[in-house]
Amino acid sequence: MTMILLRGRLLSFRHTPHGIDDTGSYYFEADGGLLIDKGVIQAAGDYATVKAGAPDDVAEIDHRPHLIMPGFIDTHLHFPQMQVIGSYAANLLEWLNTYTFPEECRFVESAHADRIAGHFYDELIRHGTTTAVAYCSVHKASADAYFAEALRRGMCMVGGKVMMDRNAPQGLLDTPQTSYDETRQVIADWHGKGRNHVAITPRFAITSTPAQMEAAGALASEFPDLHIQTHLSENHDEIRYTCELYPEAIDYTDIYARYGLLGRKTLFGHCIHLSDREADAMSEAEAVAVHCPTSNLFLGSGLFPLKKMRARENAVRVAVATDIGGGSSYSMLRTMDEAYKIQQLLGERLNPLESFHLMTRGNAEALSLSQRLGTLEPGKDADLVVLNAAATPAMALKMEVVKALTEELFLLQTMGDDRAIAETYVAGRPAKSTLRQS
Ligand SMILES: [Zn+2]
Repeated sequence: MTMILLRGRLLSFRHTPHGIDDTGSYYFEADGGLLIDKGVIQAAGDYATVKAGAPDDVAEIDHRPHLIMPGFIDTHLHFPQMQVIGSYAANLLEWLNTYTFPEECRFVESAHADRIAGHFYDELIRHGTTTAVAYCSVHKASADAYFAEALRRGMCMVGGKVMMDRNAPQGLLDTPQTSYDETRQVIADWHGKGRNHVAITPRFAITSTPAQMEAAGALASEFPDLHIQTHLSENHDEIRYTCELYPEAIDYTDIYARYGLLGRKTLFGHCIHLSDREADAMSEAEAVAVHCPTSNLFLGSGLFPLKKMRARENAVRVAVATDIGGGSSYSMLRTMDEAYKIQQLLGERLNPLESFHLMTRGNAEALSLSQRLGTLEPGKDADLVVLNAAATPAMALKMEVVKALTEELFLLQTMGDDRAIAETYVAGRPAKSTLRQS
């Protein structure tokens, strides 16, 4: 395969922006060139310089006037919930019992899991998301379908077979022993194969017995490099019920800590209603609070204090995610639009630099994957998104008066969706324009 040279406006973050004027927080090239070989960025800089250093037979793709950024990263969603999205429920527990659990039962069938996996990756790519962290269902077949399709597409994905042995329909229950054995088998079959990362995935404390939490803890100590993903402090009824199930724990966070599941590779979905003690424990463990704004609003779960979590003396690491199917959009742009509005309601402001940092480098750092993902630096994997801020007539009209980069980003976040994704590159290959039409 020949090298490829992309031309466009390059944007990549250096660190967390401290404000809307923090021009030092990012790298921007108005007429940029990105040289890619074998799925890896070789050079990034002004077009003329990068072109001069490229081989004569380099294949050029001109994306001007669009923005080229590192691909979006979605740090929490549920692969078996593509047909749960948009279900009319009053709250989390009703939504789970009425819609989600029955739907997830269908993933015992490999044929169903395989079919949904195809749609799952199509949607991610359509929305500019190149890496995601997903829950599969309790069935090993669902994890097999998930990772096989990631391997086929060359995508860097994190995921895990859900562990759950109580408080759900029979068809969704494993046991402490089978959840342990099957997770080990998923690790053996998929971890490190292609760009796959297996995560230890107890759904949440309500659906795991203490014996299963011990099994999850055993996996965490046997495989300390693996991610752990679960849910924490999403909804008041959930918190109350969880604490009743684990009366010996001080609070919800302490339940996970007691089983060795509170660490720097743990991704806790939601964390909306944490006490100060819990936030301190999260901070000390360097665990990650994953904010899922469209889901939190859709299910009426609450307003996550993102700015406050980051600003506190013992700051909590934060990531952002869609939480499909509790979430209502696959788009990280739509996700950050809702994140912005939540902060507005809390009297805080989330500036567009911070939003775009979070979707890219910030989420890569939250996943401890920033050595490979999240920026346009040479040596990084060439997972990219190409953004068109004039993708719709209404956006194009507004773009007529946009002067600054931050204004353009804010427009993308406020009005953008999959139509604003001009192209998605996975490991240096165009992935959106080559999707099969379906
Ligand atoms: Zn979730």
